[in-house]
Amino acid sequence: MSALQNAKKTDDGVMVNGFLLSPIVEQCQGCDRVRDFDEQQFCASYPNPSSKWAGGRCNFATHAKIEVAAQAKVNPLKASKRAAKGR
Ligand code: SF4
Repeated sequence: MSALQNAKKTDDGVMVNGFLLSPIVEQCQGCDRVRDFDEQQFCASYPNPSSKWAGGRCNFATHAKIEVAAQAKVNPLKASKRAAKGR
């Protein structure tokens, strides 16, 4: 696993580019965006992983990609069928 880039340890916690980071949550285990820093694990994409899971699945989770890709395939098709009917 690669290290977290631009991370600095401060009195407040671990910061990257001015954002205070919260460690990853349980649901993040297995995601490619998890990074190691200071014996903790953080997300390379979000400062607060728990909020990414608060409303359901994290939309950037690489270990949950298959379902997201399948949804993305179906939806534009339905949308175009609906549009064609409406004409
Ligand atoms: S991208 Fe989502 S699932 Fe992956 S580590 Fe970040 S918050 Fe967790």
